[in-house]
Amino acid sequence: AGSLYVVATPIGNLDDLSPRAARVLGEVALIAAEDTRHSGRLLRHLGLSRPMLSLHEHNEASRVDALDARLMAGEDVALVSDAGTPLISDPGFVLVRELRARGRRIIPLPGPCALVAALSAAGLPTDRFLFQGFLPAKGGTRRARLERLAGREETLVFYESPHRVRDTLADLASVLGERRVVLARELTKAFETFLDGTPAGLIARMEEDPDQARGEFVVMVAGAPARGEAEQSAVEADELLLALLSE
Ligand code: SAM
Repeated sequence: AGSLYVVATPIGNLDDLSPRAARVLGEVALIAAEDTRHSGRLLRHLGLSRPMLSLHEHNEASRVDALDARLMAGEDVALVSDAGTPLISDPGFVLVRELRARGRRIIPLPGPCALVAALSAAGLPTDRFLFQGFLPAKGGTRRARLERLAGREETLVFYESPHRVRDTLADLASVLGERRVVLARELTKAFETFLDGTPAGLIARMEEDPDQARGEFVVMVAGAPARGEAEQSAVEADELLLALLSE
């Protein structure tokens, strides 16, 4: 059987596509893409032209059998998303899960990923982090999620869209207060910017300069201060007691 190549593509700067990715994209029989028009532009930039098939969250499950048939016929297939690494807040999980369950060979081609790029330059602890993808869109649900995360000691990482970044900062201010936040904006692009401050301070910066609210963002939040061992066990004992009382 052929192999499925999971290929990372640039998150802005086209030079970030690896030579290996370019070679594989030129060689596979078929490219499954989140948006064939979008990925078609990348292929044209590389001077390549391959057959493409759309694979997005609404048709992913129904594409599995057809793609598996191509693999079983001995053809190699590549999976790409619009930007960055497939499956990371992007389609592909269902396909990979199903093909792996069927014993197919799945080969990752590592490359750009906004969350890793953001963390690698933010100056927040990276030994442990908690990636949360996109926060819920609705204000109440979003604040409830942040409340659940408030005690986590790992660096928190979120993806965010430009039209919600201010609301998210406002929620961070109300739920987490003065916590240090680093915003990575437009990574690898002309207006790449890192802003560092409290949620309230960052909102003020965006009000001063609305350009700072444009583009794509990774939002990183310092973890809660580490609790001592004794304090930690006291908290766990309290949680256990509460759980038992509610039984
Ligand atoms: N699969 C992608 C990856 O590997 O990073 C992420 C796809 S997700 C649908 C899109 C989100 O990723 C954006 O809303 C933003 O939070 C983040 N992102 C993607 N490109 C970015 C960039 N150049 N600068 C900052 N954030 C970016």
